Amino acid sequence: MKYLSTRGHAARPEFCDILLGGLAPDGGLYLPESIPTVSSAELEAWRHLSYAELAFEILSKFITDIPVGDLRDICDRTYTADVYRHVRAGDDAARIVPFRWLEPGKLGLLALSNGPTLAFKDMAMQLLGNLFEYVLDKRGETINILGATSGDTGSAAEYAMRGKPRIKVFMLSPHGKMSAFQRAQMYSLTDDNIFNIAITGMFDDAQDIVKAVSNDAAFKARHHIGAANSINWARQAAQVVYYFYGYFAATSSNAQRVAFCVPSGNFANIFAGQIARRMGLPVERLIAATNENDVLDEFFRTGVYRPRKASETYVTSSPSMDISKASNFERFVFELVGRDSAVLAGLWKEVDAGGVFDLSRTPFFVRLPEFRFASGRSAHADRLEMIRDVHARYAVTIDPHTADGMKVARQHADSLPADVPLLVLETAQAAKFAETIREALGRDPEIPADLQGLEVLPQRVEVMPPDVEAVKAFIAART
Ligand SMILES: *Cc1c(COP(=O)(O)O)cnc(C)c1O
Repeated sequence: MKYLSTRGHAARPEFCDILLGGLAPDGGLYLPESIPTVSSAELEAWRHLSYAELAFEILSKFITDIPVGDLRDICDRTYTADVYRHVRAGDDAARIVPFRWLEPGKLGLLALSNGPTLAFKDMAMQLLGNLFEYVLDKRGETINILGATSGDTGSAAEYAMRGKPRIKVFMLSPHGKMSAFQRAQMYSLTDDNIFNIAITGMFDDAQDIVKAVSNDAAFKARHHIGAANSINWARQAAQVVYYFYGYFAATSSNAQRVAFCVPSGNFANIFAGQIARRMGLPVERLIAATNENDVLDEFFRTGVYRPRKASETYVTSSPSMDISKASNFERFVFELVGRDSAVLAGLWKEVDAGGVFDLSRTPFFVRLPEFRFASGRSAHADRLEMIRDVHARYAVTIDPHTADGMKVARQHADSLPADVPLLVLETAQAAKFAETIREALGRDPEIPADLQGLEVLPQRVEVMPPDVEAVKAFIAART
């Protein structure tokens, strides 16, 4: 399988070559040259596989430059009940992503947040850690991952990379801006390949430092700087797996269709659903749920993509969706414009210059319904109401992001055919967001037994001003 850049660069690298890099040389995102398809016989056979086996079958269609025995071993080591151990009482740990009906045959919840950090990012990041280790070992190389986080990504990356000898992680976070639980998750790690840097500023300041360091090509090469962010194709491929697995859990035959509602920020999770559909999974609709930062909802309603400036981005109670520029959206628009990289590059020239594009009067917008996407928006009061309502009706405590998904799912449920169940993807556990749960339910969320007391462990973090040179010096002294 070869990969191409959305912006038309001539090179056609294979999977292992794009794994350790981020963007294509022309600033585009990588996609497979052609999306592999699944025969109906395969789909039938896959229905009965374990999660790790299914992951191997799907990933082997995207990864053809790792021997199958090795890839199978990586999947077996990644998707274990021990890694994804934070299941709800009554759920089957062996399923990795347990599914439960809230309204039988109508509305279900697919739990993607049972990994080490209680957010769905573990689903892909744990695989990424093992793939990085494998490829670096083969090549005798090392990598220093530099990233910025407002919460979930940083901890997922650190838990995936901790203890891996060829990898170091330098993670910037905004000093004092994350929840106490999120801080404790990251800063209590004592592995000597993990470096937490708290920047006295906002998330955007941290993000700007990462960009500035990455733009210094000489520094980047000298210190083997890499990334693990959500544009990484390996993360997208890993996420395709749970759409298939969720489909099998909710249906009894491959003649049935389902719809998915996905709490969205960077459009990484839901785009994996689009890939699953292109492969042949019978998906009736993909519904993107946003919070008050509704740039994606606006696009699907109007055809206008209007990334917001940092100053127009709201700080909300579903913070992992506080995204004003959806980095994976470029992949979707590439498909929408018929994989025409010249058109795509023109649109993103606008976006990269801080502008807007409007497809409403183009043939592309006319085609949009063929993609069978839908969208909706949720706000703080909706979130609280959904957390209360789902708790009262089904005795399940959902987190604020999943609550946004639930709100938007309810809005769309009636427009689906009666025989099409709607699956809401649970992207985090309530334990991470105690403050909002208290506001909704008047009590604290339950904390998994092995994470209780996390907040009183000693923390290790370097507090630094938002100064690029200081961060570079810190990295240089440790690599
Ligand atoms: C990252 C994240 C999201 C948004 O997912 P995208 O792939 O960026 O669309 C939603 N919910 C939670 C809890 C997250 O951590």
